[in-house]
Amino acid sequence: MEKLVSLAKRRGFIFQSSEIYGGINGFWDYGPLGVELKNNIKNFWWQKMVRDRSNVVGVDTSIICHPQTWVSSGHVKSFSDPLVDCRVCKGRFRADHISTLPCPNKPSLSVEACAVEKKGEGELTEIRQFNLMFETFVGAVKDDSARAYLRPETCQSIFTQFKNIQTVSRQKIPFGIAQIGKSFRNEVTPRNFIFRSREFEQMEMEFFIKPEGDEGQKWYEYWVDQRFQWFIDLGIRASHLRKRPHDPDELAHYAQGCTDVEYEFPFGFSELEGIANRSNYDLTQHIKGSGKDLSYFDDQTKEKFVPAVIETSLGVDRTLLTVLADAFTEDEIGGEARTLLKLSPHIAPIKIAFLPLSKKLAEPVERIEEKFRKKYATDFDAVGSIGKRYRRYDEIGTPICVTYDFQSEEDHQVTVRHRDTTHQERVAIDQLESYLEKIFC
Ligand code: ATP
Repeated sequence: MEKLVSLAKRRGFIFQSSEIYGGINGFWDYGPLGVELKNNIKNFWWQKMVRDRSNVVGVDTSIICHPQTWVSSGHVKSFSDPLVDCRVCKGRFRADHISTLPCPNKPSLSVEACAVEKKGEGELTEIRQFNLMFETFVGAVKDDSARAYLRPETCQSIFTQFKNIQTVSRQKIPFGIAQIGKSFRNEVTPRNFIFRSREFEQMEMEFFIKPEGDEGQKWYEYWVDQRFQWFIDLGIRASHLRKRPHDPDELAHYAQGCTDVEYEFPFGFSELEGIANRSNYDLTQHIKGSGKDLSYFDDQTKEKFVPAVIETSLGVDRTLLTVLADAFTEDEIGGEARTLLKLSPHIAPIKIAFLPLSKKLAEPVERIEEKFRKKYATDFDAVGSIGKRYRRYDEIGTPICVTYDFQSEEDHQVTVRHRDTTHQERVAIDQLESYLEKIFC
């Protein structure tokens, strides 16, 4: 993880937020390569979840919504984590994480082991509940009537707008509503780089179905499979992924099933996405809270009902960390150590680097790059030895380098170098387009 964090910073994927002021815990900034990678991940999700499907539509709703939303959803009352303080080191910890969190005073011990070692002298306080929602005030007066929350998940507005969206999209059940957007949680202990932060992005979809019969189980199983496959299509190694069905005692009282897709990070298997069969609890709660009719009328069967949902909920930042962790590779080329990111070509932030062997050859290469820039995320670099430039592009996961040398002036061919194998071949410049298409399409 340390190597990955250092690479992410050094090469401009991710920086600590407000670094010049000492940073702010749980917040991160994405640099030029990070934002490209993030956009590629989001676009891939949107393509597979919305564009490729005729029965899923997208929305983009506001971060702050009516505070009653969070009363109806249950977040005001119970979106909290159990918290304990240590009276000795003054650290504050999530009570359910103390067996794995390192003690700030004695990092070789977990918080729990440290407390045990001190033989229960009352170092840890009683557990108390801490609500994770960030509060703010809407308007000029800061009183209870103006209190609002930064959303801790994107999906509640999908429920509150269900009727509007269903009406305008003329979708019939079963159908889904998808959204990508920022969420905020005042996590007690943000950690593991961008895995758990206080501001993050989610990609969520609510799939509305009939509440009765075996529809719930059928669609739940369908979406667990679809979502697992999505990670493989993204390029993640299947050997490092697993599905973890929740035990019945982990399920919310209304839920009929929940499966997490987990990835084996250097810090162990951890959740990337939750797929849940939530019955019609969410819409029912908003019907109660708003007094509005959010039921669905089936004009074929003439039935009126409150739809149930299958929810798929995934973090963008966690996915990006997964992509980086999974692609991070160290190998040896000609006796020299190298670091590379084996990113899938379709999500690599820079697809092709155009490299003149000498600065004198810059002009023709710029012309070639300009042509490809309209179609691919490209880069141009004429600085440093060619070996060093290859290493730089390997490290940021660029699948292809195209090198133009003095020979190219004569034979109108370039050298195409493949990142993972370092295999090189000569390709005629007028064949380059179709050659690259085979790699990237
Ligand atoms: P955890 O148990 O890890 O706190 P959760 O089960 O509360 O997570 P959900 O509410 O199911 O998480 O959120 C759905 C997804 O949103 C998670 O699978 C994760 O990918 C992402 N997510 C949730 N909290 C965070 C966070 N603090 N930082 C980054 N991503 C997050």
